[in-house]
Amino acid sequence: VSVVNRIAAGEIIIAPANALKEMLENSIDAGATSIDILTKDGGLKLMQITDNGSGINRDDMAILCKRFTTSKLSTFEDLSSIATYGFRGEALASISHISHLTVTTKTKDSACAWKASYSNGELLADTKRGNSSLSRNSGGEIVSQPKATAGKNGTQIIVEDLFFNVPSRLRVFKSSSEEYSKILDVVSRYAIHTKNVAFSCKKYGDSHASLTIPYNYSVVDRIRVVYGSSVASELLPLSSKANEQLGLLKISGFITNPNYNGKRNIMPVLFINNRSVSCDPLRKAVNAVYSAYLPKGGHSFVYIALEIVPKNVDVNVHPTKREVRFLYEDEIIEIICESLQTVLAGADS
Ligand code: ADP
Ligand code: MG
Repeated sequence: VSVVNRIAAGEIIIAPANALKEMLENSIDAGATSIDILTKDGGLKLMQITDNGSGINRDDMAILCKRFTTSKLSTFEDLSSIATYGFRGEALASISHISHLTVTTKTKDSACAWKASYSNGELLADTKRGNSSLSRNSGGEIVSQPKATAGKNGTQIIVEDLFFNVPSRLRVFKSSSEEYSKILDVVSRYAIHTKNVAFSCKKYGDSHASLTIPYNYSVVDRIRVVYGSSVASELLPLSSKANEQLGLLKISGFITNPNYNGKRNIMPVLFINNRSVSCDPLRKAVNAVYSAYLPKGGHSFVYIALEIVPKNVDVNVHPTKREVRFLYEDEIIEIICESLQTVLAGADS
């Protein structure tokens, strides 16, 4: 069974950046206003993510890494109207099958923090590392328990030696800097979109963080930190009316005006219902609109945030694929392109 689980986990988590994205979303779901990331070897040796969110109750720690353990579904109906992608309850379970996972967490009502190690979905008695302890349950059996420790409100997740037991996966990683840039890309996207949250992302041993965003930065300030002032100084706000029939609740974002003629092709930053996704048809349509304004080979930058009625968004796409599907895709893309056109035409005249 553990081999099957390991293979399944290796299909859900295919690179450090996938695991990081899941953990980042968990921190945001937990209401964190500060998220700090530390990595070693492109995340393969270490990924440490520290947030100041709600924390996890001690009593929930034993089942935290069991598959389909989620605090994000309370009724069955929720399944069809879920507002987050992170409802599957599979991320931490998967990570625990293919790494050494340690969780330290404190809710504001708890007098101390609790720490536990996990392996293959189970809370592990990691007495050697001092991460968990052994005790007897009411039936007299010896069981692993989280260990009391000092700590601030929030959660710290430490993932060490990712893929240590999946050698075929480890072999495909060419360089740790490539894996780190994928991590930084995920963090940058969430840092741009997630207002009122401070972010930092750092390599172990580096005195300078690769990314530092204070919590009170505006979206434009966030884009400046990530992509530089040449992009940030040419941004125009994008918005559009809701369209109830299409389940489109809101369009917002920023796009570069035609004066910005980027040399570098920056992939669009697209969020649907606060999840970073990609949508190839939308990307192509946006490029087509820009082609009338930019010289051949010129690049734009767009950040588009959509809110779509959750039941219209396909959450069953494979977790490794960020490609999203939603109902009335053509019509909604058309609306986005119309507002883009309006903004660009206004800037051009
Ligand atoms: P999901 O996000 O789909 O519920 P995960 O495996 O990502 O599943 O997480 C399982 C559960 O662990 C979450 O539902 C949440 O209750 C808890 N959890 C994970 N990370 C955090 C965190 N950083 N802060 C608070 N709770 C967390
Ligand atoms: Mg999750």
